[in-house]
Amino acid sequence: MSQPKRYTVTAALPYANGPVHIGHLAGAYIPADVFVRYQRARKRDVLFVCGSDEHGAAITLRAKKEGISPQAIIDKYHHLIKESFEAFGISFDIYHRTSDPLHHETSQEFFKNLSEKGVFVERESEQFYDESHQQFLADRYITGTCPKCRYEAAYGDQCEKCGSSLSPNDLLEPKSTLSGQTPVLKKTKHWYLPMNHYEEWLKWWIINEQKDSLKANVYGQCRSWLEQGLHERAMTRDLDWGVKVPLPNAEGKVLYVWLDAPIGYISATKAWAQSHQKNWQDYWKSPDTHLIHFIGKDNIVFHSIIFPIILKAHGEYILPKNVPANEFLNLEGNKISTSRNWAVWLHEYMQDFPNQNDVLRYVLMAIAPETKDSEFTWKDFQTRNNSELVATLGNFINRTVVLTNKYFEGYVPVRKDCTVLENKVLASIAEQKSKIESLLEHYKFREALYELMELARIGNKYLADTEPWKLFKQDPDLVKTILNVALQISANLAILMQPFLPQTAQKLAKMLQMESLMDWEKAGETEILKNPHCIGKEELLFSKIEDAAIEVQVQKLNATKHTSNTNLSASESVLKPVKTEVSFEQFTSMDIRIATVKEAQKVPKTQKLLRITLDLGLEERTVVSGIAEFFEPEQLVGKQVCYLANLAPRIIKGIASQGMILMAEDPQGQLYLLAPQIAIANGSLVG
Ligand SMILES: [Zn+2]
Repeated sequence: MSQPKRYTVTAALPYANGPVHIGHLAGAYIPADVFVRYQRARKRDVLFVCGSDEHGAAITLRAKKEGISPQAIIDKYHHLIKESFEAFGISFDIYHRTSDPLHHETSQEFFKNLSEKGVFVERESEQFYDESHQQFLADRYITGTCPKCRYEAAYGDQCEKCGSSLSPNDLLEPKSTLSGQTPVLKKTKHWYLPMNHYEEWLKWWIINEQKDSLKANVYGQCRSWLEQGLHERAMTRDLDWGVKVPLPNAEGKVLYVWLDAPIGYISATKAWAQSHQKNWQDYWKSPDTHLIHFIGKDNIVFHSIIFPIILKAHGEYILPKNVPANEFLNLEGNKISTSRNWAVWLHEYMQDFPNQNDVLRYVLMAIAPETKDSEFTWKDFQTRNNSELVATLGNFINRTVVLTNKYFEGYVPVRKDCTVLENKVLASIAEQKSKIESLLEHYKFREALYELMELARIGNKYLADTEPWKLFKQDPDLVKTILNVALQISANLAILMQPFLPQTAQKLAKMLQMESLMDWEKAGETEILKNPHCIGKEELLFSKIEDAAIEVQVQKLNATKHTSNTNLSASESVLKPVKTEVSFEQFTSMDIRIATVKEAQKVPKTQKLLRITLDLGLEERTVVSGIAEFFEPEQLVGKQVCYLANLAPRIIKGIASQGMILMAEDPQGQLYLLAPQIAIANGSLVG
């Protein structure tokens, strides 16, 4: 692959109406950052831009909900998001914002240019208007009943229950969210982008210039959009928050947020160029530049279809060379959901795991949803930290540094005769480097990380096999050779881990006293550290994460399930279908009664089981129930429950379990006790 003169790398503009979570990091920002750090390490000209997306109806709606101004909303989240990115080492050259006057100017100029070229089609249409608020209603400001599934709180652009994409006119009984009143239809004019005019060109471009570089998931989405046929799309909105349409007779109109957001990459570049005495046009208009958009899969259409059309229509800009979009990251069995607070928020992680930001980076790279959706679980997070970072990488470095200090006062020993083993281990350094490079050039970040860790595994195994700590008395020369080899691997790891684990790389460079040797071109060499180079004192790179810390996180998420259940929208629940019917006799044959929990305790050596003693009025019963994840034993004592009394007994862990306590299980798998609304006599029949 021939190298371009420079790269312009963009990462999706996060929407400034909430903080960022692990799904964002895994989807776009970490892969973009690894790519950029790698290019910088190769001393290539690369510019990395991003910023907050601060326009659109979701901002004004959020402001309304919190009772503050849209400006206060974007200020709050812009800074929170910016700080989170910095903490996780996302090394933007600039983190801009679309509320900046330079952005308004840039996107207005862009719009004017397209308008003067006659790109847009002006069209009058009837749109919903709230008479009491005297304003047109953006799609999100209209709710009503979904015509397909009859869900009553569907939005003007989408039904969140059945997932149908809607237009406001489709809604039955539409209501304005501003006044609650029925809106009226009123004529308004908008500027449309006739995407259908570009369909042929786009097909040609994607097949001839993009197909080989696009990931399969991205190419597949593009093809499916093109197969459905492209249509006109309005590029303006009736809204008072956003970039004003820079034309006469456009009072009260702003640019469509998906028109102005990607132009945000350009205005960010301009802002950066101004403060660095650079020419921004080199990064956007020179054919020697490769433009790369890192995004999540929900943004593919905007970056692979709409933005290229806009750039092409303008005519002076380069088109994206690649759009390495990731699929989604799920969390503990469910989709990450901002509205339901089902997420791991970066600003919270930093508080709970101080100085362990590289650990999260590592785990999110190791499980990156590069080709399909993947899942984050706290247990896996702990395992990867403890067995990969601590027990492999950290252990190898620690042994090497400790033994070098112990036997040679920190001086790098001279390597003497190498055996077949040493030669093989030393040869693997250059092999691993070239694998990592090739994978990074092809956007395969997860595999590249694996090959980096493979070098640590090779080093760790080498020390475990040679056991230098047992040899010093009998063969000090052999120990010198072994530790020299281990030090070369360590130095290579420090250089090669820079794109992946930047904070750890710095720490390791300091420990090995090799800050001035952190040059990517040196990696692969087997004499980076030479006598009389002296290394520093040992310091742990990673520390073990205990069960208790993981337990806290799991409980925090489970608590989210409880609190968010009341406003859980039906769209996010997956209800099981009704079971096959039973006869009335079958139903009445079940003896269901009210009982009170007298005692409850964990069944020893189990995670999920509780042994519960019930007062059934007539007698006491013992039940073993798999609910320990949901209830503390002491919470249950004194509670009334519904109890199936005539279920055949079973022996569980040596305890005879009689009958069953009835529970409700919500679609997320959370369990709830069923109890009478007021206390009633134990033994009362239910039916
Ligand atoms: Zn619906």
